[in-house]
Amino acid sequence: MNPIRGLHHVTAVARDPQRNVDFYRNVLGQRLVKRTVNFDSPDTYHFYFADATGNPGSVLTFFAWPNMRRGVRGNGETNVVAYNVPIGSLPFWQARLKQAEITTTPIQARFGQNVLAFSDPDGMGVELVEVENLPTVQHWEEGPIPQAHALRGFHSVTLWLDEVEPTSALLTQEMGYRFTGVEENRHRFQGDVNALGHIVDLVHRPGKIQAGFGAGSIHHIAFRVANDEEQLTYQSTLNEAGFRVSPVMDRSYFHSIYFREQGGVLFEIATDTPGFLIDEPKESLGEALKLPAWVEPQRAEIEASLLPLTLNPIEKASL
Ligand code: ZN
Repeated sequence: MNPIRGLHHVTAVARDPQRNVDFYRNVLGQRLVKRTVNFDSPDTYHFYFADATGNPGSVLTFFAWPNMRRGVRGNGETNVVAYNVPIGSLPFWQARLKQAEITTTPIQARFGQNVLAFSDPDGMGVELVEVENLPTVQHWEEGPIPQAHALRGFHSVTLWLDEVEPTSALLTQEMGYRFTGVEENRHRFQGDVNALGHIVDLVHRPGKIQAGFGAGSIHHIAFRVANDEEQLTYQSTLNEAGFRVSPVMDRSYFHSIYFREQGGVLFEIATDTPGFLIDEPKESLGEALKLPAWVEPQRAEIEASLLPLTLNPIEKASL
């Protein structure tokens, strides 16, 4: 069985769609590569923010649920999503986030790397991690951030857990990750070092408060396989290992299976194919509302029920 190739995407919950787009697109400089709806509640948006072409491992998606109460950070959830940034770029980001009225924590060292942490406007944990040997992503030339400081896909996700052993066993025995070290209560696991988002950190917090799901919560994390065949192998292997894995679901841009790991975190395994260029050209990614064929007949009522959304003009940051 081929090991997991790192993260495919991470999906979280936001309340205000306009604020969400303004922050990830106009402040963090991620391209809105897809504007669609939640297939299970098509009167709400589903946004995809990524590099210029939506490379797996750079894709952060949001369900925008305006009536959702704010979530509570705690055990049994993915608590933080971290991005790679170039060495020396954290002062730029400190200044930029301050300008956007986002409070950052002091830069900290973790496993030898500098980390800048903050919460997004909904309270979701985000970190920027300076890394050498930056991975390749497609820089969004029209975006606000010069390439010298731009985010370079996912660095890692951090899970908060009562117990680390069950999740550790899942990662190492079923998914091809290896344990690479522990710092305080943070246990680090790595997949393919050449893949974006190849790190999973498990933070051991025995007896601490459980997470309450809501706006600002990370709904699930999706791991990456190349194709449908690899996905089916994972589906049967994980089922045999006792996980209750969902049937394959067609998410238009990838195919997905889901299961909950023992720590309570929802995992997905998603295919690289068919990708985000399947229904619109690279040049105009994210500009139009895209609906899957089976939802298309309801387009008029869906468009009427969605909150208005503006792609505000990009202001280029200076170096
Ligand atoms: Zn997903």
